[in-house]
Amino acid sequence: QAKARGRNGYRFYAPEMSGEGVARLHLETYLRRSIEKDEIFLHYQPQVEIDTGRLTGVEALVRWNHPELGLVPPFRFIPLAEDTGFINQLGQWVLHEACRQMVRWQEAGLEVPKIAVNLSVRQFERGTIVGMVGEILRETGLAPHRLQLEVTESVIMNTGDALAFINDLHAIGVSLAIDDFGTGYSSLAYLKQMPVQTLKIDRSFIKDISTDANDEAIVIAIIQLGKSMNLSVIAEGVETEQQAAFLARHGCNLAQGYYYSRPVTPDDILQRWQQRDDNDE
Ligand code: C2E
Ligand code: MG
Ligand code: MG
Ligand code: MG
Repeated sequence: QAKARGRNGYRFYAPEMSGEGVARLHLETYLRRSIEKDEIFLHYQPQVEIDTGRLTGVEALVRWNHPELGLVPPFRFIPLAEDTGFINQLGQWVLHEACRQMVRWQEAGLEVPKIAVNLSVRQFERGTIVGMVGEILRETGLAPHRLQLEVTESVIMNTGDALAFINDLHAIGVSLAIDDFGTGYSSLAYLKQMPVQTLKIDRSFIKDISTDANDEAIVIAIIQLGKSMNLSVIAEGVETEQQAAFLARHGCNLAQGYYYSRPVTPDDILQRWQQRDDNDE
């Protein structure tokens, strides 16, 4: 009976099934219904100019609030969503919601310069990514130059047609950032061919910037690389004033991290930054 129900049924009744496996299966089942049950939402983390504190953008970060499990962190459910293919549905929901939120802020009087949305490698596999992005921009009315897509180095290196997709996205006016830069294995020759606008220095290099000479050297090298390739460089995971000062001193004037703000609700963004706009005038 169990076997007749197919792969999931079989796995469920397999005697060697570990506790971890059962937990995973439950999570998988819950996850598939999470969108329709309204359990998925987005938080937004400000990206700022270090020397002025000006808001240059926000990154959309997905959250899952399960009624019994509580808040499930992305590192637990994103890989699961990628394995099951649910990431395509989830990714589409995230992109749509993020673009809609930009329009809502606009309507409330806050001009957020740019929204960054994370894409996973599986969203490039189907070849529908460009159409989906275009459709969502049309439907929400968000200007394409306000959207930045974040991909990791592995997306670029492991997707057969990555270059074609990325060129197409560039052609519709959407910009691209390489996330967690320095942790993957990207070829610089490849990078040169890509219409990429931004490098995001991974937070693992920022963490010990003031005590680890190697991290310091890596961060300086990435900033230089970005400069010479005419890319903008943003540091993620900036938690202290010292880290921000180091970055500014070495020519990286964009940062994101707890020092400025944790990821927060749309209302928090509105309250903090709308007020700031008023004060500036
Ligand atoms: P990421 O894209 O590199 O996002 C940055 C992560 O660093 C976020 O974790 C953010 O909350 C955290 N962070 C930001 N500033 C600081 C800081 O100063 N200190 C520390 N310790 N952490 C900081 P989060 O929200 O848990 O997301 C983790 C990862 O999950 C993201 O890494 C991204 O790879 C993935 N992710 C999140 N949302 C999405 C999504 O909508 N789609 C896809 N495909 N992946 C997503
Ligand atoms: Mg990101
Ligand atoms: Mg990142
Ligand atoms: Mg990261």
